[in-house]
Amino acid sequence: MDVSQLFLQKYQARREEIAILASEDTHYSIAKGANLLFLDKVIVPVHPDTRQLNAPAIAEALDQARADGKKYFIVVANMGTTMFGSVDNAQLYLAALKQRDLPFQLHIDAAYGGFVYPFSNPQNPWHFGNPEVSSITVDAHKMLQAPYGTGIFLCRKGLIERVLTREAEYIEGFDLTLCGSRSGANAVAVWLILSTYGPHGWAEKIGVLQNRTRWFCEQLNARKLAYFREPFMNIVTLSASAIPEEVASRFQLVPQKHQADNQWYKVVLMDHVEMEHLEAFLEALDNHLASREMYNAVVESPQTVK
Ligand SMILES: *Cc1c(COP(=O)(O)O)cnc(C)c1O
Repeated sequence: MDVSQLFLQKYQARREEIAILASEDTHYSIAKGANLLFLDKVIVPVHPDTRQLNAPAIAEALDQARADGKKYFIVVANMGTTMFGSVDNAQLYLAALKQRDLPFQLHIDAAYGGFVYPFSNPQNPWHFGNPEVSSITVDAHKMLQAPYGTGIFLCRKGLIERVLTREAEYIEGFDLTLCGSRSGANAVAVWLILSTYGPHGWAEKIGVLQNRTRWFCEQLNARKLAYFREPFMNIVTLSASAIPEEVASRFQLVPQKHQADNQWYKVVLMDHVEMEHLEAFLEALDNHLASREMYNAVVESPQTVK
């Protein structure tokens, strides 16, 4: 939804005074939306290993944005970034904005993690019980495995009217979307999947995936391989330095970049990613590590012989 309408209508903001505030790990669709709406982005870097936001980086980005004339902020906080599954501590954004008295709306991008994180982390604070949250997206075509095109947008009462297209006169209801006509079959598919699992069935499934992810991480720890994992998510992002390309391609790992300087590969632990597959992957890594150790032993031997 175009939240900038709220600032334009309610505060008589000028479009160039509105910015989207988000981390560098934010999904590219946010850049696409910003482009479409002629909004500038304020991108905050994250820590290279922990993928976490930090207060000084947010302060610096905000102060620069203010100097550039930005007065209103659309905050996009990730509940599960696509590559890492990392969850933003949105409290850091809110504290920095409030300290500077800057109006904002908080959107939670839970496209990837929305069907996982709230089920695995009972302390999840980013829901509509929290008055700071304006809107949330969850994609049913990610973890829920519904057909593509089942993105779900939820917002507080009173907000959606801001994007009502008054010219849509022949429509009996309202047109509140950008894309216009959509398939009702998609909504039926999501409903069917959700009602087949039921809330307990889905929570149990997430529990199983959490256990599997934990087991996989233990195996990586035992091998001293570097990776990132948000503790309540089912994504393990491996440092590419430890993974030979041949193994990555054989097991169809998703690279962060389809370029030579790729630094990460991710494994998403889902139903069909079974223990046998993980064991086969670990065995391939073991074989690679063993051959590397042999090589190192050969190279090192002149020094070790006295
Ligand atoms: C997939 C995803 C989106 C939206 O992408 P679609 O094109 O609707 O699939 C947005 N944010 C995140 C974090 C995602 O993973």
